[in-house]
Amino acid sequence: MLIYSDFSLKESNTFNIEAKAANYIEIAGLDDIENFVRKRKYFEMPRLILGNGSNILFTKDFKGVVLKNIMKGIKVQKEDDQTVTLKVSSGENLDTFIEYSLKNRWSGLENLSAIPGTVGGAAFQNAGAYGAEMKNYVVEIEYYDFEDFTLKSIKAEDCKFGYRTSVFKTDFLDKVFITAVTLRLNKKFTAITSYANLEEKLKEFTVLTPSIMRRVITAMRNEKLPDYKKLGNAGSFFKNPEITKQAFEKLSSEFEGLKNYPSEDGKIKLSAGQLIDLCGFKTTEAGSKVGVAQNNALIVINLGDANGKDVLVYAKKIEKAVKDKFGIKLEPEVVIC
Ligand SMILES: Cc1cc2nc3c(=O)[nH]c(=O)nc-3n(C[C@H](O)[C@H](O)[C@H](O)COP(=O)(O)OP(=O)(O)OC[C@H]3O[C@@H](n4cnc5c(N)ncnc54)[C@H](O)[C@@H]3O)c2cc1C
Repeated sequence: MLIYSDFSLKESNTFNIEAKAANYIEIAGLDDIENFVRKRKYFEMPRLILGNGSNILFTKDFKGVVLKNIMKGIKVQKEDDQTVTLKVSSGENLDTFIEYSLKNRWSGLENLSAIPGTVGGAAFQNAGAYGAEMKNYVVEIEYYDFEDFTLKSIKAEDCKFGYRTSVFKTDFLDKVFITAVTLRLNKKFTAITSYANLEEKLKEFTVLTPSIMRRVITAMRNEKLPDYKKLGNAGSFFKNPEITKQAFEKLSSEFEGLKNYPSEDGKIKLSAGQLIDLCGFKTTEAGSKVGVAQNNALIVINLGDANGKDVLVYAKKIEKAVKDKFGIKLEPEVVIC
């Protein structure tokens, strides 16, 4: 197992931010995890598990050990007329896996196309897009527990999945390494079309297939989201805030035209992007190193040579403006390191 010192993470995060890992180890399988825990000196340091770095902001160098997940492998576990159950190694790229599953005529994840993370990272935060979420397809998750050095599994129903969260982002944070995700996909396709203007975009197709959904969603995302290879970003920087119905009634009497969606727990979900937009963030000050995307104010972007602190200061400025104007506290979706 190779241990790199002072390893640059610039290529390993989609914000394209320079930060150094004091120690950096690639994890290709369980053997690598076991080797790592045996090296007491490294095991006792703070550690960070890194997938594709597409939901993380480095605000400083990481003083401990970064464990870069490169675990690969897909195995069919079970198949019947309706479904297929697959065990997918956590380091597989989610989008590549979706392409592979659709080639095999296994549908379900097509609405999550073009999310640039790993399968493990997507399970960690219950990634979601266009009306679909990882939790709808997860059967169980295998993980290595750093507290008692064993490999375990947890059923989907115990994963405490919620809006961009799970037990891994809360109770298990920093204590476990997700090694594989078991997913159940469908052989019979049911399109999820209800999200925002997706239905409108699909009107021109007389027959819908998972591949068409994937193509249309990828095109919509390309239109709406800046290319992180050119303008570093981590997708939505903040979660959409959820407020009670009463709070929403009060707020909407003051501010007309607030976008609102029912959330699963009976609350009202607001559009964080709209709130940020209404605070005037789409106009970038000359010379600023950080801004928000012109067609989606929820995407905080590195305009060139910003460092992590620049991005964080800008995000705090957004948080304060939204709090001052609407009385709403925005919560970052991005993991801040
Ligand atoms: C352009 C763009 C668009 C995006 N669109 C969406 C979207 O539509 N919906 C959405 O939900 N997200 C979106 N994202 C955010 C991101 O791609 C997803 O959250 C993705 O699932 C993160 O995976 P990752 O491998 O990059 O995780 P990383 O960023 O590497 O890690 C994120 C967190 O997960 C933890 N983690 C990662 N892997 C493991 C593991 N194996 N075990 C334990 N912990 C782990 C890390 O420690 C870290 O705390 C977008 C990002 C970008 C750049």
